[in-house]
Amino acid sequence: MSLNEQNPLNEYRQYSGIIHVHSVFSDGSRPIPEIAQIANELNVRFLLITDHNTLRGKEEGFEGWYGNVLVGVGVEINDAKDQNHYLAFDIDETFDPSLPAEQYVKRVRELGGFGIIAHPDECRNHLPDYPPYPWTLWDSEYFDGIEIWNQMSEWMEGLTHFNKYWRVWHPRRSIVTPKKETLARWDQLNMKRKVAGVGGVDAHGYLHRFWGFFSIRIFRYKVSFRTIRTHILTREELTPDTDHRVALKIVYDAIRNARCFVSHVYFGDAGDFRFFAANDKEFAVMGERLSCLPETRFYVRIPDEAEASLIYNGQKIEQKTGREVSFRNRGAGIYRIEVTKDGRPWIFSNHIRLLPEEQ
Ligand SMILES: [Zn+2]
Ligand SMILES: [Zn+2]
Repeated sequence: MSLNEQNPLNEYRQYSGIIHVHSVFSDGSRPIPEIAQIANELNVRFLLITDHNTLRGKEEGFEGWYGNVLVGVGVEINDAKDQNHYLAFDIDETFDPSLPAEQYVKRVRELGGFGIIAHPDECRNHLPDYPPYPWTLWDSEYFDGIEIWNQMSEWMEGLTHFNKYWRVWHPRRSIVTPKKETLARWDQLNMKRKVAGVGGVDAHGYLHRFWGFFSIRIFRYKVSFRTIRTHILTREELTPDTDHRVALKIVYDAIRNARCFVSHVYFGDAGDFRFFAANDKEFAVMGERLSCLPETRFYVRIPDEAEASLIYNGQKIEQKTGREVSFRNRGAGIYRIEVTKDGRPWIFSNHIRLLPEEQ
């Protein structure tokens, strides 16, 4: 199959968005309309606000279209120890922070919503004002996704006494790579069931006093929004003419079903990236499945000359360079693509699952 032929891929549209943003309803520094305006200027198409333990943004009517940006409001839940931060969407109620994580993770599902584990493997220990907030509830069957790349978490974690000035002045360049252990865990989870991988920015735009030396607004929203994006694929068109509740369902459906990929905007607009698999009868994009037949192949389209690595059941098995590459299959299991540009991580696809051929 050629990528240029009329193929089912053309039925999909791509929209890039920002997930995990705080507003003045918790510890962010700007109101939602101002944050949405910044996103609109940067060609973001959807923006998911997640304030700590509150849905005020939704309750007070701030969901909707702001120019070309669709704003949805979820909530970042935590437990009594301030661990197990969970981004929950498509729900109308919040939870008492004294509730154990087992309960709120399950309850989000029961309410018809879905949830994403925030900054799962956070382990910084050198910033007394900002302790780590790792995830501990790995055996739950009820979470739907995981932040494979969290901008704020990576930035804070890499901060040392020696590089802090460089990192403050070059925030985007200091976002380098998702954590290896998070990616490995994500692959392992997907060998059992589908768990979507998304990118989070955790934007607050807050003022921080650095060791008492100087104050600076770390990661203004404008800067954060030019780092990690989550791109969804959908057959439906999203325009400001679409009722915002219908439009949000479309965005949520793509994310919870892992029909999405993650990119770092610093290396270029990844909107045209595609990863799909096909055989004589079936076709699948990220988040989908198809039969493992001898002729089942994987196809990758990259917006720029770059290196694509095929990851099979958590192992990197092959790398090719170009703008359009394809790979043969190695058997039933889960496959995803990592794209690097000049060796630096740029794009991460979700998995496609190959099912054993029926006897
Ligand atoms: Zn958090
Ligand atoms: Zn957060």
